[in-house]
Amino acid sequence: MNAAEPDQTFEDEASLQLNDDGSLRHLLTLKGLDHAMLVDLLDDAESYLTPAGALPARSDALAGRTVANLFFEPSTRTRASFDLAGKRLGADVLNLDVNTSSRKKGESILDTIYTLEAMRCDIMVVRDASAGVPAYIAKHVRDHVSILNAGESDVSHPTQGLLDLLTIRRHKGGFDNLTVAFVGDIRHSRVVRSTAWGLRTLGVGSLRLISPAAMAPDSDDMPFATIVDNLEEGLAGADVVMALRIQRERIGNLDGIPNIDEYFARYGISHERMKLAQPDAIVMHPGPMNRGIEIEGALADSAQSVVTEQVGNGVAVRMAVLERVARSLGNR
Ligand code: ASP
Repeated sequence: MNAAEPDQTFEDEASLQLNDDGSLRHLLTLKGLDHAMLVDLLDDAESYLTPAGALPARSDALAGRTVANLFFEPSTRTRASFDLAGKRLGADVLNLDVNTSSRKKGESILDTIYTLEAMRCDIMVVRDASAGVPAYIAKHVRDHVSILNAGESDVSHPTQGLLDLLTIRRHKGGFDNLTVAFVGDIRHSRVVRSTAWGLRTLGVGSLRLISPAAMAPDSDDMPFATIVDNLEEGLAGADVVMALRIQRERIGNLDGIPNIDEYFARYGISHERMKLAQPDAIVMHPGPMNRGIEIEGALADSAQSVVTEQVGNGVAVRMAVLERVARSLGNR
């Protein structure tokens, strides 16, 4: 891709993703979505959840529509989740194999998009390692196409943010008096940049970002959160603790990054350390988890961990988002 291509700023993204009547046209970032929209999406997602053992929810809300999954970066959970979500809503789902795609052969991303538009793909789900790509595509597609951001560099991952919010709401009932602590590689995480902004919009009590200095965010990045470098201090009294993966693929310079043993000793979440948090605190991780580095394996498998629930909620959230953008597709 030509480095000059993406030129979006947050203001562009926030306005680009809404139709004139305020409905959702694309999902590019959680930053610009208001309280009512977030609550509506969470309520819709909740309606798609069924008890374990029951058949998953289905509808024909996307019957006749085509969803294309374009993942230019590796993904297991998010890609499978969008695939299932589209199918359970009755859409045709196209999973592009990007290792053999024309983009590898030098085709510009827009040419790939225009090709899919010509094949009548209505919704394109995009993951890319470069910042600005989802908004750049959204700016160039025709009126009847929606773009969903499935992970953008270290910038955002809005459906992950929504599934985290849904998981927290289901366990804690609301956000007002909660203390939520993120632990680990905050600086390079797109997950924290989505979940934290969503929590802020929903009025979370307090947010802590715990990491070694080399993994801390810039102070103006999430100015509403408290940056902490001491794990014990950050965990004290927390209601929700979310461990983050070390994003090695995005860390250019490893100076100041502790080695694995040192990292687990200082920042790993364990049963022992969770004693500092509230007794009913939940433990989250967006996956993929590195057991023994970010999180103790036994804790990840314990009743306190809601990691697999996050995954299940992810399908429901993606169904809610697909259904919502599809609603406005018909009116264009
Ligand atoms: N799966 C999440 C993401 O795509 C978290 C991670 O990779 O660490 O950002």
